[in-house]
Amino acid sequence: MSQNRTINSTNEKETTTVCCTTCPKECVITIVLKQGELIAVTGQGCKRGKQFAKKEISSPERTLTSTVIVDCGGTVQLLPVKTAASIPKNDMVQVMNVIRKTRLTYPCQLGDVVIPNICGTGVDLVACRSIREVNHAR
Ligand code: SF4
Repeated sequence: MSQNRTINSTNEKETTTVCCTTCPKECVITIVLKQGELIAVTGQGCKRGKQFAKKEISSPERTLTSTVIVDCGGTVQLLPVKTAASIPKNDMVQVMNVIRKTRLTYPCQLGDVVIPNICGTGVDLVACRSIREVNHAR
């Protein structure tokens, strides 16, 4: 996500633009802060955008997607995974470090919990597809 900040020192207002990730419309939202307090939100296509803006300035969260290596008995495949809900952006590096070290053995089922409560976030890492048999076509 891109984020641009400008600070107007004459009246201590800070303007930030963020891209709402709540739905595919991806509205560009302008957030105006004064002394750290939210005073205006514009550009949102619906009321969820204002909630996203509030969250974005206090404790931003994202759903993380990645892949995990699966040992298929002599070959490896990459299993797409994602967090079952959004997690704090501050936890992303720690979570990715755990994902990179994770090795599974097949079979894997779509929706399987790959890592429960990953890094103590309270959110499970889940499989986004199934690997039922070894794919030798490479
Ligand atoms: S503000 Fe509303 S319409 Fe726009 S991206 Fe966010 S959820 Fe979607």
